[in-house]
Amino acid sequence: MRFLLPVGLIATTLAIAPVRFDGDKVLRVKLQDEKQANIIKDLAKTSQLDFWYPDATHHVAANMTVDFQISAKESQFVESALDQNQMHYEILIHDVQEEVEKQFDVKEDNPGRHSYAKYNNWNKIVAWTEKMVHKNPKMVSRIKIGTTVEDNPLYVLKIAGKDKRRKAIFMDCGIHAREWISPAFCQWFVYQATKTYGKNKIMTKLLDRMNFYVLPVFNVDGYIWSWTQNRMWRKNRSRNQNSKCIGTDLNRNFNVSWNSFPNTNDPCQEIYRGPAPESEKETKAVSDFIRSHLKSIKAYITFHSYSQMLLFPYGYTSELPPNHKNLTQHQVLL
Ligand SMILES: [Zn+2]
Repeated sequence: MRFLLPVGLIATTLAIAPVRFDGDKVLRVKLQDEKQANIIKDLAKTSQLDFWYPDATHHVAANMTVDFQISAKESQFVESALDQNQMHYEILIHDVQEEVEKQFDVKEDNPGRHSYAKYNNWNKIVAWTEKMVHKNPKMVSRIKIGTTVEDNPLYVLKIAGKDKRRKAIFMDCGIHAREWISPAFCQWFVYQATKTYGKNKIMTKLLDRMNFYVLPVFNVDGYIWSWTQNRMWRKNRSRNQNSKCIGTDLNRNFNVSWNSFPNTNDPCQEIYRGPAPESEKETKAVSDFIRSHLKSIKAYITFHSYSQMLLFPYGYTSELPPNHKNLTQHQVLL
């Protein structure tokens, strides 16, 4: 027993220590042709390329600019492979750990005041939802639409102008845990909506015509994990049968062409779709909520990072949806 105890202690310590990214780089490669796209795809088979854009290897194509993170250990090999193939690349980030640490700066400018200029952890976001309702009781209400795998609450804020029986837009943020700017945007949106309603023409017109349902953090467990254990965590935190890999990509767990991509069936992939459509408590709660509000909800907008793009449905195909023309017209208005 004497020998076993320290081993147990080491194991516990290792499990608790957050993942570090010392010396990890982010590279940007401009792919000139099909051949170069295939080189990246081949490299992804042998090295651990964590794609920032696009979000998976199968989206890599000719004439695209791809950004990916690579560990300090593998960066030399990958960079020399790119050099050998005369592929142009730039180093966007030289040390990911250094950048990560800057984002954990949670010192308060004004103690007790919610900050919209810094990232907020889950506890702060919960306190903020309460504050929003308390400060704007006529406009904002909080609805608990379900719980997560780790039993955290899923809160939706309903924002409504004077007449509450109107059409609505559902918005989610933070479906991918590590995309912190997304929950930050949802918080900012609710704040701006309540602050400028009745003052700003566009916001007043918007809220007089439609309600908003805002889910500020979809993947709560993953978001907490990205704050405490692994800044680059993307999936939720559910256990997978017959695999040591944790989590499902909630974005690919909806019951829409769930079976489209064969390479999303590996639990160790960042884009794992889960064992069945809506298998995850979080996706099920959101889908149930939308189904029960189908009369009012006319649009669903989801906020991600990273890149600057407006994507229309559907993500699983390059075929255009029947209302594409209509969507394009609205894009111009945006
Ligand atoms: Zn995302």
